[in-house]
Amino acid sequence: MELLENFINGEFHAPVSGLYIDNVEPATGAVYSKIPRSGDEDLSMAVLASEKAFPIWSGMSVNERSAILLRLAAGIESRMDEFVKAESKDNGKPEKLAAHVDIPRAISNFHFFATAIEHFASESHYMENVGVNFTTRRPIGVVGCISPWNLPLYLFSWKIAPALAAGNCVIAKPSEITPYTAFLLGQVAKEAGLPPGVLNILHGTGPEIGNAMVAHPKIKAISFTGGTATGKHIAKVAAPMFKKLSLELGGKNPTIIFPDVDIEQTVKEIFRSSFSNQGQICLCGSRIFIHNDIYDTFKSAFVNWVSSAKVSNPTDPKAQIGAVVSKAHMEKVLGYIELAKSEGGNVLTGGKRVFLEAPYDEGYYLAPTIIEGLTNECRTNQEEIFGPVVTLMPFSTEEEVLAMANDTRYGLAASVWTKDLNTAHRMADRLEMGIVWVNSWLVRDLRTPFGGMKDSGVGREGGWEALRFFTEPKNIFIKYE
Ligand code: NDP
Repeated sequence: MELLENFINGEFHAPVSGLYIDNVEPATGAVYSKIPRSGDEDLSMAVLASEKAFPIWSGMSVNERSAILLRLAAGIESRMDEFVKAESKDNGKPEKLAAHVDIPRAISNFHFFATAIEHFASESHYMENVGVNFTTRRPIGVVGCISPWNLPLYLFSWKIAPALAAGNCVIAKPSEITPYTAFLLGQVAKEAGLPPGVLNILHGTGPEIGNAMVAHPKIKAISFTGGTATGKHIAKVAAPMFKKLSLELGGKNPTIIFPDVDIEQTVKEIFRSSFSNQGQICLCGSRIFIHNDIYDTFKSAFVNWVSSAKVSNPTDPKAQIGAVVSKAHMEKVLGYIELAKSEGGNVLTGGKRVFLEAPYDEGYYLAPTIIEGLTNECRTNQEEIFGPVVTLMPFSTEEEVLAMANDTRYGLAASVWTKDLNTAHRMADRLEMGIVWVNSWLVRDLRTPFGGMKDSGVGREGGWEALRFFTEPKNIFIKYE
């Protein structure tokens, strides 16, 4: 059985404790590798290496850093097939999705920030006859990046790339459930000539190595993506230490469909926004509000489309839905379907586990599920399920749908579907979400601020926001004599 290793100071290391955790393939339910169960001693080695590397890395010219990060992007690209297969095997997502979304985006993340840093500028403020202020933005030092399992390398690199581009040294932890592409990233970093200690990758559990990273006094900033409960815990540990914190957390996103849409076209788009990656994207719309005038027509077209979607093993090029990430997660999602029924929900399609033929008969497959008949206030419509489950709710007026859409503790993303520009503007303005898509979903421009309001997080990633997060501004004033 393959044993993965930590990447510390440019070398691969077994965990000091000698302890490992099973890594399961969701498509088959079988253990296929083991990952280090890292602890304080592994972290101490990584912190020491990062501190030693910081003056070297931050002292390099922007051009030199950019060139190395571009090599890193090219290194992933040259091993595209290996990365795609690894991501799909670890996560259960269709290989097609990993090939079109996850791995290309990880490459783009490094490419984008490698070039963005060459254009990053800071401000100067001139005071007539008094003097001039200028602001420098220097890297923070050693920073921590912690990412979840749903878009493993995509989100891991979304943090690591700006942190490195800005001149920081990074200690990063992928989710223990999806460690493999992070392990490969260490190999690529080494091949790309990233100096030892600049990027360190530690594997292990959140409560152990993740928590130790957050609590470590030498790690000055934490960029975290994951669940709201974990984010709350991290804030509790990090805030009294005055660490910089970026928290990208959960969502319960509304999808709002007005009566003037092209129903056939919109059904296909809403299938994507609901069930991509088995519904395990923080941005997926899980509460679908449909205008009363088209409710029945849209519902039947959507149910038809969704019930014919192909649930299959991730290597099947025709798979539209793969496996969910773990047995525990599958059971959690099935638990929510039972909850929905007990709250009065009517399952229109799906609602159950799907059993494929061997060798996939023990895999974690769920039929894409549509439920109606629930109120917006019930738990099913207020708690994040993070699986292939959506609910349908009718509405009559803009006011009514806005009130329901905003009535959640979350504020991550929304999509609005209408041909009426005025409606689109009014809705976009009044939705309490960090991201609003009109007649689209998950169209990403890496320059834009990314993140949520309310319990969906603190701060924004992307573009200058990320480079500002990973630097400390210092204002210097020079008086004119
Ligand atoms: P978790 O919060 O369980 O875990 C996220 C990461 O944090 C994992 O690496 C986990 O490690 C680690 N972790 C867990 N506990 C701690 C701790 N006490 N201290 C430090 N690190 C810890 O989330 P999931 O992995 O289950 O991901 C799903 C969640 O992520 C959903 O809520 C989803 O909405 C959210 N998400 C948000 C996004 C956004 O941009 N807003 C994007 C994508 C997902 P381990 O897994 O090894 O235990």
